Amino acid sequence: MTELLSNYVSGQWQNGQGAGTALHDPVLGTALVRVDASGLDLAAAFAFARHHGGAALRALTYAQRAAMLGAAAKVLQANRDAYYEISTANSGTVKNDTAVDVDGGIYTLGTYAKMGESMGDVHFMHDGEPARLAKDPLFQSQHVLTPTRGVALFINAFNFPAWGLWEKAAPALLSGVPVIVKPATTTAWLTQRMVKDVVDAGIFPAGAISVICGSSAGLMDQLDPFDVVSFTGSADTAAIIRSHPAVTKKSVRVNIEADSVNSALLMPGEALGSEAIDLLAKEVAREMTVKSGQKCTAIRRVLVPEAMYETVAQAISARLAKTTVGNPRNETVRMGAVVNREQFNAVRDGLTYLKAQAAVLHDGSTHALVDADAAVACCVGPTLLGTCNAAGSDAADRVHDTEVFGPVATLVPYRSTGNGDLAHALQLIRRGQGSLVASVYGSDPAELARAIPELTDSHGRVHVISPDVAAMHTGHGNVMPQSLHGGPGRAGGGEELGGLRALNFYHRRAAIQASTAVLTQLK
Ligand code: NAP
Repeated sequence: MTELLSNYVSGQWQNGQGAGTALHDPVLGTALVRVDASGLDLAAAFAFARHHGGAALRALTYAQRAAMLGAAAKVLQANRDAYYEISTANSGTVKNDTAVDVDGGIYTLGTYAKMGESMGDVHFMHDGEPARLAKDPLFQSQHVLTPTRGVALFINAFNFPAWGLWEKAAPALLSGVPVIVKPATTTAWLTQRMVKDVVDAGIFPAGAISVICGSSAGLMDQLDPFDVVSFTGSADTAAIIRSHPAVTKKSVRVNIEADSVNSALLMPGEALGSEAIDLLAKEVAREMTVKSGQKCTAIRRVLVPEAMYETVAQAISARLAKTTVGNPRNETVRMGAVVNREQFNAVRDGLTYLKAQAAVLHDGSTHALVDADAAVACCVGPTLLGTCNAAGSDAADRVHDTEVFGPVATLVPYRSTGNGDLAHALQLIRRGQGSLVASVYGSDPAELARAIPELTDSHGRVHVISPDVAAMHTGHGNVMPQSLHGGPGRAGGGEELGGLRALNFYHRRAAIQASTAVLTQLK
């Protein structure tokens, strides 16, 4: 029998009462550990976090809490090797892909620690300047942001067990709000282990951080009006969260990060041999293969002028052909597995669905697996599809609304009329109905600047790659804590990160109408 991982609630490690659900190695197929949350007293767990954790955190200042984040980042850094081992075993990732999750999480935590340092020894934030309410400046309105007196419940997706925890926990804890994380079952081990290391180090007050591994049953029922819930996962589960009475009746604040059909756009007018084309091909191939395409921000649609379709197809395919797929323990392997058999089947089914409206430009099934048994390992080669011509891009609907969560992207040509029909490309991108990120590739700064405002209303982030930033840009799919993460419409409508903007979600804004003498005393 494999080890049963404990849950940390009410300031204690507690085992679930059931047999548990086994977590597996997606490459070898072996069972690793079990998780179970049945029989936990969830009401007591939430009350403990809310009352003990919340009160203790709020008694500290932003700068003091920032110091705790810094200490937690150091603990995680010291245990990094263990996280790499867990990730290889449970997520089937090669080292570079583990880094995106583990090091990305630690970096994000460290970044919030630094940002929080400069917030000072205060307990709430001023929001803007006082505004006069009368001709005489004696009676004024001052807005303030105060940490919410509830818990932050995180319901997370399987693809980022480390980063997904810390990108949410860092701003919440810095805000003074205790967190309860429920990782996706299939990869819960890494989240549980990171929480365990931080809890064992005794950095945060009791109740500041809890972890519940296993079923989500009953979690939403615990939420009260001043709690918040942040969900990352599929649009279907997001709809369940949104319609829960905690949200509809108690106005529990909710943040949703759901699936997204992100785009990469090659600007019109780039000549054959232009560096922008190389940059696009490189980034698309990288985005398709990092974490086996299991990134919410990964490029799914690649918009190119019709006249460039063949050139770009060949450039991307040539890169994909070099991707070795298989056991991440083998040094020659560049791409490991998808997370489990269910996802493997979902990728295969998604490909079949897309292929009904697209041609295969690079076939992932031609990649022989390295050091892995194809009957057991959940490894999928990268596949590039294409809608062939501009008319094909207009006629296809599936490519615009289907996120295949694996190493799959589709080349979507737009009209090449004149210098290239940018309006057509933008119209095709909008059919994604709101995405997390679009990247734009071109060498004319004025033309790039013209395109950007056409994308910012429907994307949380626009990543612009011109030759001058080729060596330093942070990547289409990498979520940087300094920049907003989230997107409107089908991407869920959420907002995370974006520097200190992330703290807004964990604070309540209030207007104070008082005499200037009182307002100047507010500290
Ligand atoms: P999922 O099936 O929706 O699961 C997400 C989380 O919700 C898991 O922790 C899951 O727990 C939990 N859950 C399932 N049913 C629930 C319910 N009825 N009530 C409350 N919680 C429930 O999504 P996934 O398959 O893990 O993640 C893949 C998807 O996430 C992809 O579509 C991807 O685009 C999206 N994603 C988005 C972002 C972003 O930032 N926008 C980031 C990463 C992933 P169990 O695991 O125990 O079922």
